[in-house]
Amino acid sequence: MPKIYSYGYQYIDESDISSVIEVLRSDYLTCGPKIGEFENLICSFTGAKYCVAVSNGTAGLHLAAMAAGLGAGDEAITSPITFLSSANCICFTGAKPVFADIESDTANIDPTEIESRITGKTKAIIPVHFAGQSCDMKRIWSIAQKRGITVIEDAAHAMGSDYEDTKVGSCKYSDMTVFSFHPVKNITTGEGGAITTNNSALYEKLLSLRSHGMHKDGNMRATWEYEMRELGYNYRMTDLQAALGISQLSKLGRFKKRRREIVEFYNENLQIDHLVEREFSNACFHLYPILTENRREFYFRAREKGLHLQVHYIPVHTQPYYSRFSYKLGDYPKSEAYYSKCISLPLYPSLDDGDLSEIVKRIKEIL
Ligand SMILES: *Cc1c(COP(=O)(O)O)cnc(C)c1O
Repeated sequence: MPKIYSYGYQYIDESDISSVIEVLRSDYLTCGPKIGEFENLICSFTGAKYCVAVSNGTAGLHLAAMAAGLGAGDEAITSPITFLSSANCICFTGAKPVFADIESDTANIDPTEIESRITGKTKAIIPVHFAGQSCDMKRIWSIAQKRGITVIEDAAHAMGSDYEDTKVGSCKYSDMTVFSFHPVKNITTGEGGAITTNNSALYEKLLSLRSHGMHKDGNMRATWEYEMRELGYNYRMTDLQAALGISQLSKLGRFKKRRREIVEFYNENLQIDHLVEREFSNACFHLYPILTENRREFYFRAREKGLHLQVHYIPVHTQPYYSRFSYKLGDYPKSEAYYSKCISLPLYPSLDDGDLSEIVKRIKEIL
């Protein structure tokens, strides 16, 4: 049997394992000191003032959408080429998801398309940093600022990426940024996520909503004395996850370097259509999608050769659930054209040079 390569795979070493074991032997499996430590490290890494660690990226997007005040009667704009969560988090609040088409060469949301979809009801924009490359945040921020619209960056793909002279997550050009630490993402905590912001009111709101809307003031001293002031959730991260996150974060620089080397290797060794990187971007690439005419056949032939590839993504507006908003095939032609051709090649830091030559050899046999 040939070695099997998936499109993504976690990187876990002995230091990750021992940092989790250390927490298992400690007094706090959750609500302990590792959470704050992880949040502070994310703040110093991204340059954001505040960070709220959460149970997964989807929970983070949900809290961010709630903190932005989204609700029934409002609209929020996101990309069709994304994982379901970027749009579902709008639906969770009762607001209406509105899509804006992508730029074909980056698969990122097109700011001009965003502008054309804005109505009097638009309350938030949720740009998704597809494959790890930042969207054009200065343009998106200026479109939003002019109209008092909240910007939530979906940076599930983009932990470790740079936009101009800022880290994604700095929130220099947004109100909040949401990360995911699912095993295929740039760093992992098993399940997990985080929200960064520079706004203290949003920070307080996120903290409250993460834990049932419960508040404890200084004058309420006994452990049972708390007040529930709004309807929140249990979206907390555990200390086991936070400890793994701390350990993973210390390796992110190496992960990024390797991910960029792999992308460069594919760019040089495969004569095949792929996404481009903009001048303003220095991405910690999460995905390497190529564009091929016979995508379905390519997928199954790759599978026979031990390459377990994946398609990112079926345009969200074409999902059956979204037909209730009257979306249909044909509404977002660039996203649909991209989807018809895209397929993501293996991209993860533990691939060595031998693996890369082997993967390229197998792909050339298919082309
Ligand atoms: C993974 C992902 C999410 C959701 O993150 P989870 O941690 O899996 O809930 C949201 N948006 C995008 C673009 C993603 O890739």
